[in-house]
Amino acid sequence: MAFYDAELIEKILHLKRQKNAVILAHNYQRGEIQDIADFVGDSLELSQNAAKTNAEVIVFCGVHFMAETASLLCPHKIVLLPDINAGCPMADMITVEGLRERKRELPGATVVCYINSSAEVKAESDVCCTSANAVKVIESLDSDEILFVPDQYLGHYISTKTDKRLFLWPGYCPTHVRIQPEDITKLRLEYPQAKVVVHPECIPEVIALADEVLSTGGMCRFVQKTEAKEIIVGTEIGIIHRLKKENPDKKFIPTSERAVCPNMKLITLEKALWSLQDMTPEIKVPEEISVRAKVAVDRMLKIV
Ligand code: SF4
Repeated sequence: MAFYDAELIEKILHLKRQKNAVILAHNYQRGEIQDIADFVGDSLELSQNAAKTNAEVIVFCGVHFMAETASLLCPHKIVLLPDINAGCPMADMITVEGLRERKRELPGATVVCYINSSAEVKAESDVCCTSANAVKVIESLDSDEILFVPDQYLGHYISTKTDKRLFLWPGYCPTHVRIQPEDITKLRLEYPQAKVVVHPECIPEVIALADEVLSTGGMCRFVQKTEAKEIIVGTEIGIIHRLKKENPDKKFIPTSERAVCPNMKLITLEKALWSLQDMTPEIKVPEEISVRAKVAVDRMLKIV
C-alpha cells in the first residue's frame, strides 16, 4: 500500500468515527474500497446491515439505485454516494412513463422489479426482487402473468425456473453482456477441473455453459463450500478481490477482463474522503416516491 493511501485511509477512518458513519461497499467495488468498508456485500444485504447499526451516516460505495434503497430502508440516516455520477445503465433503461404504458398494455400482469431499478420504478411496481430471491418471489404471487423489469436476461433465466408467463422489459447489464460463451469454452479447456459460476444477468448462452448460476452473495457462499480449487467467475471482476481474501487457498479466474462496470469504479478513496468531509452528495428519495417504493421492497422482504 502506498504511503499516500495509508494517510488517506487514516483520514477516512478518523472522519468515519467522528461522524458516526458506516461505510458500505458493493462486491464490485475497487479492492481498496472493499478493504476500508464495514460491510461488503450485495445491495440489499448492505442496506439491511446498515439499518441494524446505530450509525447516523451511511457512505454507500456502489451505484445510485443502491444508495436510494439504503435511503428507503434507513429513512432517518444520511446516505452519501461519493460520486453522484455512479449510476447503473441497466436501471436507466426503463422510465416510469414507459413502465406505465406497458402496464396499460398488460392490465392483468403483476409488476416485479429487480432491485437494480430506480426508486421511481420501484414505486410503480407491485413487488421488488433480487437475483437471489427472484424465483421465490415470483412463485409466491397469485398472478400467472408477470411483467418483469428491467433485466431481460435475469427475467429469461427466471422463466426457465417457473411455469408463470413472464413479459420481459428489454433492459440488460452492459457489463455482464460482455461475458461471451467463447470465453467460457476457452477457459474450460485451460482449467478442466474448475467450476464455472456465473451471474443470472449474463446472456442465456453463457448461463447454459455454467455449473452454477448465482447472485454475488450466492457465489461467495458457494466458493467457501465447494471442494473445487479453481473457480471460473462469470460476473463483474471486482468480486474476485473479496473471493481471494476469503479463500486464499483457491484460484479465481475471471471469465473476461472486459467485465468491468465503469460506474462501480468511479468510487475512489479520495471521493470517499471528500464525501465524508463535505457530507455530500446526499441521496434522499422524495417522500411521495419512497412511501410507495418501500411497499414493493417490504412486500419482497415478507416473502423471503
Ligand atoms: S454491473 Fe451492471 S447492473 Fe451492476 S451497476 Fe454496473 S451496469 Fe448496473
